[in-house]
Amino acid sequence: MGEKDVGEYSGVWVFAEEKRGKISSVVFELLGKGKELSNKLETKLSSVIIGDNVSKHAKSLISYGSKKVYVIESKELLEYNDEPFSKVFADLINKEKPEIVLAGATARGRSLIPRVASILGTGLTADCTELDIDEENGLLLQTRPAFGGNIMATIICTKHRPQMATVRPNVMKRTEINSENKGEIIEVKPDKKNLISRTSVLDFIEDLTEKVRLEEADIIISGGRGLGKPENFKLIYELADVLGAAVGASRAAVDAGWIPYSHQVGQTGKTVCPKVYIACGISGAIQHLVGMKTSNVIIAINKDPDAPIFQFATYGIVSDLFEVVPKLIQELKKNKKT
Ligand code: FAD
Repeated sequence: MGEKDVGEYSGVWVFAEEKRGKISSVVFELLGKGKELSNKLETKLSSVIIGDNVSKHAKSLISYGSKKVYVIESKELLEYNDEPFSKVFADLINKEKPEIVLAGATARGRSLIPRVASILGTGLTADCTELDIDEENGLLLQTRPAFGGNIMATIICTKHRPQMATVRPNVMKRTEINSENKGEIIEVKPDKKNLISRTSVLDFIEDLTEKVRLEEADIIISGGRGLGKPENFKLIYELADVLGAAVGASRAAVDAGWIPYSHQVGQTGKTVCPKVYIACGISGAIQHLVGMKTSNVIIAINKDPDAPIFQFATYGIVSDLFEVVPKLIQELKKNKKT
């Protein structure tokens, strides 16, 4: 694929992922960052929403800062399907020529965006944790962990357009809503041939194994190596149950096989941003901290007063977790009854 005339491309686009009637929360984080990038480039921020009956979200996307909302609507786009979604999205990009396209590094974003980049013959940086504009040349600086998280690499896309990146949920601040915002809604009729797919969705089965999703939980109770053995996670689940919280874990606990990987918080696990994060028997290694340090309130329970987690904790309890956690459960249960 040849190099593109980069000068023809302008504007910052955000893929407004919609799932089961709801816009994914990462979209509001991307709109916040997108606004900052478009201001630096003195260009417009737009969003693109794809599906059936999705135009109802357009006004909300405007109130979160989009100056234009492209709505690609069709009955054939009711269920998410890689093939038609990537073709209709790539087609619109080819016509409108944005210089930057951002999407969430969600399961859907990770599946869709590489396909779009491949159709367009441009580059993609997956799983970014920071984005900025190079003041000298206006290029998008796409930063992400590399080599197993041991270094942070900043990647640029010099010769092809658009510059595309997926961004981890919960690492960027949500933008503020402003109902006074004005914007344009553009209905896009997808080309019939782009709606043809070799696969079809037969059914949608919700995963009910996680009671509360880590990325969306208001409260997270995490356990680490300090729990000593797998059976002791029972205590963490009990506390989580009383508080209606999700259960997280350090990599040490996951690597020991005490809890599945889907619960891991940190650089090579999930990035979370709950209102309250309670770390039990977790030392606070940098790789764990990067996954939870933006939590509003951090409570650490650790018997070592010098544990690094205390430098980041809002409240620290220097004590044996096997004494503190049962007491907490007991008190909270009592309070629930009264
Ligand atoms: P430890 O560091 O062993 O800490 C256990 C803590 O429990 C200690 O502070 C101890 O004082 C305390 N304790 C012990 N008994 C009790 C008790 N009875 N009551 C109270 N406190 C007690 N780690 C992650 O968590 N997430 C990641 O995504 C991640 N990614 C990584 C990526 C790379 C490339 C590398 C190199 C490492 C990564 N790690 C990650 C591992 C990380 O460096 C740490 O090894 C890990 O976080 C340690 O887990 P921990 O805090 O549970 O265990």
